[in-house]
Amino acid sequence: MSSSAAFKVAVLGSGISGAVCASTLARNGISVTLFESARGPGGRMSQRREKTEDGMELHFDHGAPFFSVSKSEVLHLVHEWETRGLVAEWKENFGSFDFHTLKFNNAEQEGLSKKYVGVPGMNSICKALCNESGVESKFGVAIGRIEWLHDEKLWSLTGVDGKNLGQFKGLVASDKNIVSPRITEATGRSPPLDIKLVTELSEKLLNLPVKPCFIVMLAFAEPLATIPVKAFSFENSKVLSQAYCDSSKPSRSTASERWVLHSTAEYAEDIIAQSGLKKPSDITLNKGLTYLNHFLRKLIDGASIAPEEKCLWDRNKRVAICGDFCVSPNVEGAIDSGLAVALRLKDSHNSRRHKERQQELV
Ligand SMILES: Cc1cc2nc3c(=O)[nH]c(=O)nc-3n(C[C@H](O)[C@H](O)[C@H](O)COP(=O)(O)OP(=O)(O)OC[C@H]3O[C@@H](n4cnc5c(N)ncnc54)[C@H](O)[C@@H]3O)c2cc1C
Repeated sequence: MSSSAAFKVAVLGSGISGAVCASTLARNGISVTLFESARGPGGRMSQRREKTEDGMELHFDHGAPFFSVSKSEVLHLVHEWETRGLVAEWKENFGSFDFHTLKFNNAEQEGLSKKYVGVPGMNSICKALCNESGVESKFGVAIGRIEWLHDEKLWSLTGVDGKNLGQFKGLVASDKNIVSPRITEATGRSPPLDIKLVTELSEKLLNLPVKPCFIVMLAFAEPLATIPVKAFSFENSKVLSQAYCDSSKPSRSTASERWVLHSTAEYAEDIIAQSGLKKPSDITLNKGLTYLNHFLRKLIDGASIAPEEKCLWDRNKRVAICGDFCVSPNVEGAIDSGLAVALRLKDSHNSRRHKERQQELV
């Protein structure tokens, strides 16, 4: 067995940080298995498919609607994705709608930072990265328990169904819920990774502030002619914060006009306080509108636990935690963090190989 094959790494999560990390490791010759609890890739950049009563399939970007990039190393990657046809610029001006005056205003000026979207859906980037050669992706596999085998110096993974998922030299967790007791609140299960195993890493994760957000997905047979912009924020609304016309993004179907509306965090918190962490009833959430809804959690702006290091990393146990919460609460921060973890593991792998070669020479 070659040294690279023996250095197997498990990546938990196929959001953009996990997907970037996994594909970067694979490109460096490191064997990667990626586990994702959801049916498909993307995490908070995923796309939702819904069928109408008459059988029409509708696609919605129900997490991040777009992203912008300012850091050169991230931009380099985004340009590569653009060349591969995974990403395109969304050239729409954004505006705002004031609930007091009931008017649209503040049409955004040209020349602000570019808005990128995955094409044909926001999940396209993660999908392509998870399919890259050298990445073995397993969807619909939720990790329930992670153990450190002290004598073997390996990480052992078990699914929530009790299935043994293998042993790995390195471990990357790209979701804070891997150690957070918040997961117990939502599922009744203990967090997969015992905080005592990686105390220095995990303590920082425990009190990360996150806010809930309801997503409303709407489809119209005809274009909404009275709305002058394709994306806008709401002013003076306690319920809605943003609206994005999904069908105006590049490479989307225009068979219907599709909008995605984001609630304010305060509204979502209020509904959750009334009905718990389950889908609210039609009556509670909305009266009279046909809607599809989904609930996502969003990090609060400013939340970042490792802005310099960009990830949490324990060299001795070869375990890393990455994600937007390490750098900045957006797609760019998540990409930056995924790249940082790949670099740490690559260095660890290289120094291990170097030691092995030296021993062979003795
Ligand atoms: C409503 C909303 C609007 C947003 N708007 C913007 C925006 O305009 N611009 C912008 O740049 N960003 C925006 N963001 C933020 C952006 O989506 C995130 O910063 C980014 O997608 C986070 O990526 P990540 O890889 O860190 O985490 P995630 O995408 O959350 O990935 C973590 C993955 O780990 C998986 N996982 C968790 N536990 C387990 C387990 N036990 N076993 C296996 N898998 C597991 C999860 O299913 C998930 O897929 C928005 C987010 C939301 C929710």
